[in-house]
Amino acid sequence: MSVISNSNTKFIFITGGVVSSLGKGLASASLAALLQARGYKVRLRKLDPYLNVDPGTMNPCQHGEVYVTDDGTEADLDLGHYERFSGIPATKYDSVTSGKIYQRVLDKERRGDYLGATIQVIPHVTNEIKNVIIGNVTDEDFILCEIGGTVGDIEGQPYLEAIRQLAYELGRDRTMFVHLTLLPYIPTAGELKTKPTQHSVKQLQEYGIQPDILLCRSQIEIPQNEKRKIALFCNVREECVIAALDAKSIYHVPLAYSAEGLDIEVCKYFHLDTTKKADLSKWEKIADIVQNPEGEVKIAIVGKYQLQEAYKSIAEALTHGGIANQFKVKIKWLDAEDLERDGAENHLNDVSAILVPGGFGNRGTEGKILAAKYAREHNIPYLGICFGMQMAVIETMRNVAGIKNANSSELSDDCEAVVGLMTEWDKDGAKQIRHKDGDLGGTMRLGAYPTVLDEKSKCFQIYGGKEISERHRHRYEVNIKYEPVLKKAGMNIVGKSPDGKLPEIVEISDHPWFIGVQFHPELKSKPFEPHPLFVAFVKAAIDNSRLI
Ligand code: GLN
Repeated sequence: MSVISNSNTKFIFITGGVVSSLGKGLASASLAALLQARGYKVRLRKLDPYLNVDPGTMNPCQHGEVYVTDDGTEADLDLGHYERFSGIPATKYDSVTSGKIYQRVLDKERRGDYLGATIQVIPHVTNEIKNVIIGNVTDEDFILCEIGGTVGDIEGQPYLEAIRQLAYELGRDRTMFVHLTLLPYIPTAGELKTKPTQHSVKQLQEYGIQPDILLCRSQIEIPQNEKRKIALFCNVREECVIAALDAKSIYHVPLAYSAEGLDIEVCKYFHLDTTKKADLSKWEKIADIVQNPEGEVKIAIVGKYQLQEAYKSIAEALTHGGIANQFKVKIKWLDAEDLERDGAENHLNDVSAILVPGGFGNRGTEGKILAAKYAREHNIPYLGICFGMQMAVIETMRNVAGIKNANSSELSDDCEAVVGLMTEWDKDGAKQIRHKDGDLGGTMRLGAYPTVLDEKSKCFQIYGGKEISERHRHRYEVNIKYEPVLKKAGMNIVGKSPDGKLPEIVEISDHPWFIGVQFHPELKSKPFEPHPLFVAFVKAAIDNSRLI
């Protein structure tokens, strides 16, 4: 097993029971924020029991957005919650799946590292999981580890065994188990039901895990006698049965948990000072703006995935842009195929700005191109992200430059490939090479890359600097050879990779606000540090709505 360099680091394991989608990621991020508010250094990790090596090849309709870190890891969207709430950039060490764990174990087996041993879930897989949990720890006071899935899932068992072993090895004074459950409300009985929670805790106990804190999701206040009952049956102290009620917004969650005493109980458990109060002022400020905005602005997201979780970071970044402008952003979710069927006007005539997000594959592309056309022709603020930039470039090429068969080679073999497959690019001075028939998983241009901005551009003003770094996740790219044609058509490439070969940002000069970016600015936006592009985009939307 790896050795932890800091022997003071404490580990908090967050599991979930009863049903999925209770918001474990948000609960973990909120607890981390509360510990930070008490001056502690935290780090969050996600352990996903599914067998995919990473979520990169998973359909966003099923699993939500793929979050990308600076170091180019394709990770679960919960890492986005973690970064947004803690402000700490996640790394490849903070996200793991069973697929990755097994891949490591099998690689070691092939190399002969196990010296002829029979490879088993216990100890080989569990040891690998433990290595992830305690590896790469520096001076953190707390590592919060969220276990994906629900207690009882077959895939989750090695993880529960691994954290049980760690609690034994590190000692219970350095480890804590937090279990998130649901108390369903039965309206006909007028009661909250505690039985599913009892069963879920029993199941945890079967694995040798005794939860120290129960976070109980509930629609209504939990009466004290119910808390007492849960405490008695689940073997948890009554103060540690914490109500996690539905909150007004996600920014209210840390405040609500604190009011319920979560951080105090965690500190008491670890024998830490509880006399000084947590400084929650920044959360109070944000919650206040979210609840009392000066106005509301409607922005369309023209996508294709029905699940809003597929655009999680974009929705969050728009909210942050709204907070910076003291406004609420109301998102109009549009399916690009509806624009193809009904025309853009019918769906976009009541929005103040249009955002076309990232995407893959053919479905809905013509609808996205119609959205870009509508924004360009009607002077509506437009932000195209990754695929949304590529579609805007294709639209200008087709309808302004007159190259009717302009397209992306991702979408057509028989076209003027204004957007083409990247086969070579530079990363930190080394050449990256890809082939048309290569693996799909983990092979895109991923993670942070620098962009150099044109000093005359709108983006230069927005960012307030010449060199920026943003996260990428793409395989195709606008071909730089079309720069002169685009320029003549009024679209300027105002941001490029430092070698000048890869277009990173386009702007339409003769338009109030039309920007396309090849990267994903939404991944770096935080409520306390809203991304400048989203602040400017929401401001442009507000200015536009005042003109109507
Ligand atoms: N499908 C496009 C590409 O691979 C865009 C990717 C994205 O929007 N993230 O380049």
